[in-house]
Amino acid sequence: MSDDVVSLLQRAKEKIAAGWGQGDYEPEPGLVCASKAIQVGAACPIQDQYDMGVALAKTMNCDSPGRRHNIPHHNDYCLRTQADALDWFDRAIAYAKEQP
Ligand SMILES: [Zn+2]
Repeated sequence: MSDDVVSLLQRAKEKIAAGWGQGDYEPEPGLVCASKAIQVGAACPIQDQYDMGVALAKTMNCDSPGRRHNIPHHNDYCLRTQADALDWFDRAIAYAKEQP
């Protein structure tokens, strides 16, 4: 994946580091869920947006086997803490770096 995808994921991780929550895009002022964190607007090439989603989907390590989670569901049902969310984004960043 491109360097742009890596840096976009790193920016999203910084937003989560500044405040993370569950149950809504912005559960409280200053808190974002993973779906909100990766929203970078129309300026982001569609391929980069897609690749971010792939990197996050591949690294969910869902602890509810058999359930296929998308990003908002995983954020709300599998992640317990902000640290869990940051670990997830670390795995996604590592995955994006490894992909051609
Ligand atoms: Zn999950």
